[in-house]
Amino acid sequence: MAIVRVAVAAPLPELFDYRLPAGWLDCEIGRRVLVPFGRGRRLGLVVDRQPESAVADHRLKEIEHCLDDGPLLTPQDLELLNWASAYYHCPPGEALFTALPARLRRADTDFKERRRGWRIPIDARAVDDGLLARAPRQRAVWSILQAHPEGIDEASLREQLGDCRAALRSLERKGLLEPASAEVPLDDGSPPSAGTPAPLPELNAEQQAAVDRIDQTLGFACFLLDGVTGSGKTEVYIRLILNTLARGRQVLVLVPEIGLTPQLAERFAQRIPVERAVLHSALAERERASSWLRAARGSARLVLGTRSAVFTPLPELGLVIVDEEHDVSFKQQDGFRYSARDVAVRRAQMTDCPVLLGSATPSLETLRNAELGRYRHLRLRQRAGGARPPRLLLADIRSQPLVTGLSHALLTRMGEVIEAGNQVLLFLNRRGFSPVLTCHDCGWISVCRHCDARMTLHRGRGRLVCHHCGDQADLPVHCPYCESPDLRPLGQGTERVEDSLRQRFPGIPLARIDRDSTRRRGELERVLTAAQAGAYPILLGTQMLAKGHHLPGVTLVGILDIDHGLYGSDFRAGERMAQLLIQVAGRAGRAELPGTVLVQTRHPNHPYLQQLLRKGYGAFAAAALAERADAALPPFSFQALVRADSREEQFALEFLERARGHAIALAHQGIQVWGPAPASMERRAGRFRAQLLLQSPERAPLHALIRVLLPALRGLSGNRRLRWSIDVDPLEML
Ligand code: ADP
Ligand code: ZN
Ligand code: ZN
Repeated sequence: MAIVRVAVAAPLPELFDYRLPAGWLDCEIGRRVLVPFGRGRRLGLVVDRQPESAVADHRLKEIEHCLDDGPLLTPQDLELLNWASAYYHCPPGEALFTALPARLRRADTDFKERRRGWRIPIDARAVDDGLLARAPRQRAVWSILQAHPEGIDEASLREQLGDCRAALRSLERKGLLEPASAEVPLDDGSPPSAGTPAPLPELNAEQQAAVDRIDQTLGFACFLLDGVTGSGKTEVYIRLILNTLARGRQVLVLVPEIGLTPQLAERFAQRIPVERAVLHSALAERERASSWLRAARGSARLVLGTRSAVFTPLPELGLVIVDEEHDVSFKQQDGFRYSARDVAVRRAQMTDCPVLLGSATPSLETLRNAELGRYRHLRLRQRAGGARPPRLLLADIRSQPLVTGLSHALLTRMGEVIEAGNQVLLFLNRRGFSPVLTCHDCGWISVCRHCDARMTLHRGRGRLVCHHCGDQADLPVHCPYCESPDLRPLGQGTERVEDSLRQRFPGIPLARIDRDSTRRRGELERVLTAAQAGAYPILLGTQMLAKGHHLPGVTLVGILDIDHGLYGSDFRAGERMAQLLIQVAGRAGRAELPGTVLVQTRHPNHPYLQQLLRKGYGAFAAAALAERADAALPPFSFQALVRADSREEQFALEFLERARGHAIALAHQGIQVWGPAPASMERRAGRFRAQLLLQSPERAPLHALIRVLLPALRGLSGNRRLRWSIDVDPLEML
């Protein structure tokens, strides 16, 4: 085996052959290597070995370095990544290196790290610990330090003793210890916290039935856990996790949002006494690499993470759980455009283990798969532990006077709830003070220079900000067009509603939760914990607040503006609106207190709203599926989008015109080619965007077309200023 095939860390469709240097016997599959590439060198990963290469001998180059002590990825990990790279038509090197944590994407990965620590100075080693007889904390620290003469890092000390900073300070003052830096391997595990796990509530009949069904499964099966909000899906997860761990297997749990991991991680920590690893993009590089390695080496038994965690190597994987499976953030929207939910299902199939998709508002794709019998449909119809379902009410706001978007009906109810000592949650999916600033005299509006969009007024920061490209400008004092000083904010975002509520309910603590208010690290966690404990009678937020959180004191949920979701241009707008409404509504009345949800709308008779209110999400979804079937839209057909953008208006469209020609020439019968069409916001960040839609009643012919189309498109795009991409199973039209 003298030739290795290498996926090079670059967006190139090919694999490259390299020779092993003389004297090398082998370089295993799954190892990282440094290879000469073009005029430089690149990081790569060995994906295959062969006796010979199709490349002429004299043109073959040699591997320069073989990194790491052993393979980072197993053949099984590679099989999954190869599948995903082929399915999403993403270059193998790009897919592979997207799946690795950032620290492992660099050649100089250090697998050790230095951490701050402590040791006993040499001349103090003989000191009698009788001295510390009356200081038990110091004595505990001392005895651990004695067992580690070379020093121990502070984090490990804290893991064993809790917060021991006071004891450390006292010991240092007495000259009994000194700072020392300790070297720790990156995959050093944190042992599960000692102490007995919190008791498990007794499952109700539906929960137990779900657990039993899944536990009885040997090998692969995909389950949909379709449970109303607050029905105890997480308790079902916990039981299944414990049972799987008891069988000696690892468990992978995927959540859509970073914001959801602390709460779930905490709940797991209390109940599941094993080594865990958390993986999401807000972690420091070091922590992320550490989690990844601990999972890959098998020491972490439970892995909780967001989208990219789906590729974490888990040699003994026995169960995959995807929580809030309907959430669009499982789909990566750039580069390697995979759906972590769909990859999770495929992974379970390859591993031959069960996978569980949980949601109170399953996606229409998943419901269709359940209908077809591919997924097994498990239902939790009741809220757990005696909580009642929330009451949904529509507030018709046509010709009603509104106070910054709040109707009289909502304000009155809010007053009652606050008076009674309970919590209100208000939902408005728009951050900032107002979505546009306008001149009262000439009608000028604050448009973005780079996008077909308006700039949002952020009064706290005193800026105009474009939410699409991030461009910012100082707040103008005069109209830039007619110089009038009469500039007025139009409409409201969370910042403005907060202002108004503070005036209306003076002295009542209020927490605003959106991306602006939770910018600081740990802030979201802090506010949510305080909110959970009832610290804020009023909670106001964007969709950050809508997802999964358990807020037992909330008895009233107000949805300020649902209407933009009713008439969206995307065919999925209705589905998204329904999911959001039910999820936000689900924050109400999750404990003993019953909850009410007030939805403000100018379209109270809209069939979607009526269906949701009267019959619930299941009936809505059935009707929406019937509409999709009539229109032959997904999940009754399969789509891929070719997107293109360029600085000059014509290039993107011209490229897609030619792409269309190729697609039509190459396509088999049944495949439809729509477009090209400019994006609904055509110009964004200074680039003109357009798309071509490929649609097919069957999956296979669509993929066959893409396979032959892509090389043709690569040949077409000689224009360096043009960017283009392919998105398989797109969730968002531009
Ligand atoms: P979901 O994930 O479906 O929204 P959770 O698992 O968060 O629901 O459960 C909602 C609340 O009900 C939690 O406080 C949970 O501890 C409680 N709960 C869940 N199952 C039971 C049960 N069988 N008995 C009592 N309380 C339960
Ligand atoms: Zn003006
Ligand atoms: Zn912009």
